[in-house]
Amino acid sequence: MTAADARPDLRELGDHVAGRRDRMVADLVAYAGLETPSDDVGLLATGLTWVESWLGDVVGAPTARAVHDGGAHGDTVSLEYEATAASSGPLPWVTVLCHYDTVWSAGTLEGWPVVVDGDRVTGPGVFDMKAGLVQFAHALAAVDALGAARPHVRLVLNGDEEIGSPSSRGVIEDAVRRGGPVLVPESAAGGAVKTARKGVGLFEVEAFGVEVHAGLDPRAGASAVDEIARVVLQLHAAADLDAGTSVNVGVVHAGTRSNVRAGHARASVDVRVTSAAESARIDGVLAGLRAHDPLARLAVSGGWNRPVMERSEATASLYRTAASLAHELGHELPETSVGGASDGNFAAALGHAVLDGIGAVGDGAHARHEWASVSGMVERSTVVAALLTELARQG
Ligand SMILES: [Zn+2]
Repeated sequence: MTAADARPDLRELGDHVAGRRDRMVADLVAYAGLETPSDDVGLLATGLTWVESWLGDVVGAPTARAVHDGGAHGDTVSLEYEATAASSGPLPWVTVLCHYDTVWSAGTLEGWPVVVDGDRVTGPGVFDMKAGLVQFAHALAAVDALGAARPHVRLVLNGDEEIGSPSSRGVIEDAVRRGGPVLVPESAAGGAVKTARKGVGLFEVEAFGVEVHAGLDPRAGASAVDEIARVVLQLHAAADLDAGTSVNVGVVHAGTRSNVRAGHARASVDVRVTSAAESARIDGVLAGLRAHDPLARLAVSGGWNRPVMERSEATASLYRTAASLAHELGHELPETSVGGASDGNFAAALGHAVLDGIGAVGDGAHARHEWASVSGMVERSTVVAALLTELARQG
């Protein structure tokens, strides 16, 4: 490299990352060998300590570090890795979001140890998303080892993503607001990166009736069952599957006895949308729910757990940059939109370019057959390394 802000030779970069293959696999095996369930603060703390120490070995010491107490959840750590390579202009920042928690409970490893079998690594959390962090760390280390210019990196590690990021959301949003594109090394979907994700709303609708004897004096009462039944029909009618909006009342609890007009009923609703306009429409439907019987009343609680991640022009442009680099490296990087949400949704809602699903290639998120591809780790790590150098060049 003569000029630090010239793009490095992609083949050289690819060879360098490929040389890290065995270390990446060993790192993933070690990392996945530590259980980090979202609901176990002790195990999360042990896991996070390991992650920070391991990052120190692979990437070096961060230039800044902040810990945010997670309270009942895992702590969130923000690490900054400022670029040191000389550049002709100011270097941009990128924010990288990695969760270190998994959906797997303590003890899962006893019956399901981490195993490397040919191209596959299996074990709890390897695909979602432990391989993603390993790939990113080695991509960053590879760029630095070659002395190539790269953006300053702001890495957020959170331990509550799988339960909706209740304690880390603010930290993530603060990091994203400070500027630059956002990379989320979550697992790929069938090898594709995720440029759009649905927004997810979790709502409860309660109906309050008036209990009376069902036979003696029915007119004096009001049935919460009748009210909630009407609500279910209205909500299901609000779905628009062609527009990507699903509305599902998955659980209903109501009433006490068949001879009592029901005093209380509750419906649990899962809503998924693909646009902010659709989430606003659903908000309107929920706000417009009215009790049919003047003696009854309704109450709506809950909200949008994660806002919709729309495929903005900024996101599409970031994707095109990554896809063309992948193509130059001899790989394909397809894109897709998915129904599941991630912390990428928070970043997209703030108007930032987000490349999500740039982590593991494999399958089986949240499933017993979860696996990550070893060749995929090398391939996607190389693509991320190339993207970092390109983002530095674009400034
Ligand atoms: Zn994940």
